[in-house]
Amino acid sequence: MYTRTQNENGSWNTRCLDCFLTIASSVESESALDAIEARHICPEKALSWLAAQEYASAPTAART
Ligand SMILES: [Zn+2]
Repeated sequence: MYTRTQNENGSWNTRCLDCFLTIASSVESESALDAIEARHICPEKALSWLAAQEYASAPTAART
């Protein structure tokens, strides 16, 4: 999830709604935004993924 804002000169900024980082500013085109957003590795999502992995593995460990 990203929020895009357009500058007065027509360029774009995009911000990740999960970690609230501005991941690009003054980007010329929306297709470039697509590429930048696709490359963003969100620290918030990485953390929640790790937490999910630990949660998923915890019951297995507790059963032994
Ligand atoms: Zn993010």
